[in-house]
Amino acid sequence: MPFFSEFSKKITESSQEAIRRTKDAASIVTWNADIAEAQARLYDMEEELGKAVFSENFEGKTKEEIQDLLSMDESESLVLTIANWKPFVETLLAMLEDLDLISDRETKIDRLRGELRCPSCYKILTKGARFCPNCGARVEDITGEAPELEEKEDDE
Ligand SMILES: [Zn+2]
Repeated sequence: MPFFSEFSKKITESSQEAIRRTKDAASIVTWNADIAEAQARLYDMEEELGKAVFSENFEGKTKEEIQDLLSMDESESLVLTIANWKPFVETLLAMLEDLDLISDRETKIDRLRGELRCPSCYKILTKGARFCPNCGARVEDITGEAPELEEKEDDE
């Protein structure tokens, strides 16, 4: 009977849709956890770098010596050092990896949610925008490269 076959087909489709949505939600949870872990590592590494720069360049300096920095011309470079710098190169490389990981997971999440981001400033774009409201990049150029997005009803 056509009615029943149509009906069961609809049920199959909607349960497949439900499974897909559940999978998507689980993926988003996992990717958000990846992002949180990477951000925590970045925070630790920034702190480590900041402490090394501070202890070698500013610790033990008098208030006057530090105030003297204010009289320096801003076009002059303030050269800060890290004596034992080799391990920090590894830290910096790890930071770059974590930044890549974060943007990878954010892209995946955006794709599942059907969102587009500006590739130059990475802000989320509203549908139909012609220019990025943040940096002014042309959206035509952006959508030319963007993957085809399926229309979704706004029920989330
Ligand atoms: Zn932009």
